[in-house]
Amino acid sequence: MTADFPTRISFDEAAAIIDRVAAGRRLSTERIPLQRGLGRVLAEDLVATIALPNFDNAAMDGFAVRGLPMPHGGWQLVGEQYAGADQGLVLAAGQGSRITTGAPLPAGAEAIVIKENARVDGDRLCTDHAPSANDHIRPAGEDVMPGTRLLCAGDVLTPARLGLAAALGLPELAVARRPTVAVFTTGDELKPPGQALAPGEIHDSNRAMLQTLLLAEGLEPVAWPILPDDPERIRSMLQDAAFSFDLVITCGGVSAGEKDHLPALLQSRGETCFWRVRMKPGMPLLFGRLGESLLLGLPGNPVSVLATFLTLGRRLIDGLQGRTEPRMRWRARLTDTVHKRHERREFMRGRLQMDDDGQLHVAPDAATGSHRLAAAAANDVLLVLPEGAGEFAAGTVIECLPCAAGRG
Ligand code: AMP
Ligand code: MG
Repeated sequence: MTADFPTRISFDEAAAIIDRVAAGRRLSTERIPLQRGLGRVLAEDLVATIALPNFDNAAMDGFAVRGLPMPHGGWQLVGEQYAGADQGLVLAAGQGSRITTGAPLPAGAEAIVIKENARVDGDRLCTDHAPSANDHIRPAGEDVMPGTRLLCAGDVLTPARLGLAAALGLPELAVARRPTVAVFTTGDELKPPGQALAPGEIHDSNRAMLQTLLLAEGLEPVAWPILPDDPERIRSMLQDAAFSFDLVITCGGVSAGEKDHLPALLQSRGETCFWRVRMKPGMPLLFGRLGESLLLGLPGNPVSVLATFLTLGRRLIDGLQGRTEPRMRWRARLTDTVHKRHERREFMRGRLQMDDDGQLHVAPDAATGSHRLAAAAANDVLLVLPEGAGEFAAGTVIECLPCAAGRG
């Protein structure tokens, strides 16, 4: 196959191509109720139309008082103000009123005397804990002033952000549509778990992993039957899927072996954006367009699936939704020296630990083979070792990407 597309490109070049293609295929916007918003990418800025709190109110149950310090003989109690409806109380100097948390502050109130510190005798309120001005008062606008831009298009919705939208009175938000994704595994050797293996066969582990990687992104992947290493079957199934999904993700069949049919298929029936990225694991990664879809061809080795999906696959999904908020990543010190003998960017598996001083350390896993799924399962981050061969001495600060979604 002659390559008239970028091949053996750097990780950054691959990332740039993915960003460009995704930007050209930005998904449309839809309005969704807040309870369906978790993990969605905001499509428009969230600007406050009201203040939060929207009125001065009590932070504690107790008594609103006017007149500091406490008048001789205490404050005179005049009425009650509970959360829910503003009684329009006005306190004169030397007066106080019973109040509950969240209730509007009576006009003139200067502090709240909390219930635990109050002594009430008839209509007199006394305390041994001299209150200061503004004690336990939550002023209007303390959290948010009207007109403040609280979130930007491209930010991701979290529970607190969805609660914030609700506090502002919004029942729904505009977000990017989620990409629809078809997932294929390929290989004559694959059997679904639950089925007995003939000699030479293995269980399809990538399907469960890839589906749950996608679920962790809030997507609802549709998994198709395992594809045999038959170019005609692969072509017809993938072309079918390429009519109805935004994204087709395959794994296996993208290397240079006799049974690796995907690169030629994409070149003849679609358009290859790149094939092969100088990363480890995951070098044979394939990306392009097929029919109406984008096609991301992940390599077959399970750890390659993990590394390529978490780095470039997610980047594509994020780009399609217009996500600009960066992913969480950590920086940690290597516990052991790593000798890197190749030039590619490496995503090595490792385990994070925090010492008593709060310093993060990462223990690199010596089991680096891209078939070593048990080793990947025992770890929680991918260490990002930059391009270039050489030694990364123990103590070197290394970037780490979480790779165990679901563990919190
Ligand atoms: P391939 O890229 O198709 O040559 O596959 C590379 C390696 O990954 C081979 O050892 C395959 O048997 C293995 N492999 C491919 N697909 C899967 C899968 N779905 N589950 C587990 N291993 C796989
Ligand atoms: Mg294969």
